[in-house]
Amino acid sequence: MKRLEIEPTGQNDHGPCPCCGNTSRCVWGLVHGPKGAVAAYYAHWTVSRVADHWPNFDLIIGKWGDGTTAADRCMVALRYRLMDDGPTFMVIDPDDRPAAKSELVGRALPRADVIGKPIAEQAFAIVDTILAQDDRLAELLGE
Ligand SMILES: [Zn+2]
Repeated sequence: MKRLEIEPTGQNDHGPCPCCGNTSRCVWGLVHGPKGAVAAYYAHWTVSRVADHWPNFDLIIGKWGDGTTAADRCMVALRYRLMDDGPTFMVIDPDDRPAAKSELVGRALPRADVIGKPIAEQAFAIVDTILAQDDRLAELLGE
């Protein structure tokens, strides 16, 4: 496995969450591989409600930089849950995710086009890296 490193680039709070009144938070950044950026990510969650509001991770995976276009990138949506035996991610359909409509994205991949494909391995490696390296997500790992 090639080494990946994150670069946090921004965050904002919005909300309150319509159901519980807690703050909704989004943090975002880039994931770099040995040859440059391989993905942008957006992690959305509701502060202090990680257990019952499953956080979303939206990834834009592909080529970045000079000479690339949105057609070089696709979007994969994952949902996070903290289980008794640790963090887990599952691929979901991207339709309701804001990043699916981003102009940076050529195609938002439905779950069926991700599961069992090489892109799934890449997506899981990327979210594992984000969770391990992005200190802003400490709350997602539990108390
Ligand atoms: Zn809520």
